[in-house]
Amino acid sequence: MIDLRVNEARLWSRIQEMAKHGATPAGGCNRQALTDEDKAGRELFIRWCKAADLDVRIDGIGNIFARRAGRSATGAILTGSHLDTQPSGGKYDGILGVLAGLEVCESLNDQGIETEFPVELVVWTNEEGCRFHTAMMGSAVWAGAMPLEAAYALCDSSGASVREELIRIDQLGIDSVLTSDIAAAFELHIEQGPVLEAEQLEVGVVIGVQHMSRHRIVITGKEAHAGPTPMTERLDPMRALADFLPRLYAMAEAHGPDARITFGFIEAAPGSNNTVPGMLTLTVDIRHPERDHYEAMVGEAYQIIGEACDTQGLPVLIEEFWKADGVSFDQECIAAVTGAVDLLEYTAKPMVSGAGHDACHVASVCPTSMIFIPCEGGLSHNEAESITQTQASIGANVLLHAMLKRATLVPSSKD
Ligand SMILES: [Zn+2]
Repeated sequence: MIDLRVNEARLWSRIQEMAKHGATPAGGCNRQALTDEDKAGRELFIRWCKAADLDVRIDGIGNIFARRAGRSATGAILTGSHLDTQPSGGKYDGILGVLAGLEVCESLNDQGIETEFPVELVVWTNEEGCRFHTAMMGSAVWAGAMPLEAAYALCDSSGASVREELIRIDQLGIDSVLTSDIAAAFELHIEQGPVLEAEQLEVGVVIGVQHMSRHRIVITGKEAHAGPTPMTERLDPMRALADFLPRLYAMAEAHGPDARITFGFIEAAPGSNNTVPGMLTLTVDIRHPERDHYEAMVGEAYQIIGEACDTQGLPVLIEEFWKADGVSFDQECIAAVTGAVDLLEYTAKPMVSGAGHDACHVASVCPTSMIFIPCEGGLSHNEAESITQTQASIGANVLLHAMLKRATLVPSSKD
């Protein structure tokens, strides 16, 4: 079975076929969750699964499961990702993981290979969280991290709810796949960052996802005229900002090259050229792959901001408004991926994902890990997102052999 490889041309043609649903003029995809385009993509996927003799079921939040039977009825090895895209997304984010999983099943079919445990392929609903503002929604519901009713109640900007749209596109199912029925899971995804390409590596062995949180800082000053008010008489939030901003960048730097700090939003009120701001609001996004560093960064950020505002005599409120705990993937799953990389003689390195993925929720209920392949320029969530046919097949081959290892190969006559 060492020689077993996926059908590279079939995988690539299916990726391009899927990309026709929601295709944008600039060569990307707009196939947001539960739209007509998503419906068409889902129906195409289901047709392919049925043609491959997979048992297709849809659960209450529209997650599509497609099972290739094993000798055992339980202990399935799960793989998959998402088919929905950003409004100006690419052809590969999510789609690669789904269609590579289908290709794993097809390749096993082609060779007549029977596995001890079933292979369960999944398409998670609304991973992107752009139309309905909760990313990784379908996997969160499945893993018990989000109540089904809360997901149903989410509405898009026109007021249409997830439940209404699931019904409208005929994707609200009644089947359920129990988390206890899944023994292990793998997700193949494009890196969405520049590291693998820069280091000319073929595969990222993903060992975890970094810790991340976002915080809102509101500093209260006192509105005053920009001319008559002496500098010494002002309560100016910008003074505190000027103090803490360089200190926060230095703090992040001190936590090493893996630390991330981003000030993505800043607003001074009332926003007039000649008025000292009465209020300054900004957000800071803090990330680090290691929990100790991450927690220290958050603590130090709060302290630095507090000190700077104290020095200026300015009241400040800091609150965390979003958080995603980091994930350490399962050692045995990581070893299965590393084993596949070694067997296939690809170049690879262990890495931590900077972005969240469905695999984060899956990891809370069963042993899980991820596989990355490079994408051109590290570009993703962009119509220009690009990978090569060879890169796609490398990822799928690693997925195939990692899954085979966990699905425990049953020797067949062709072996
Ligand atoms: Zn994705």
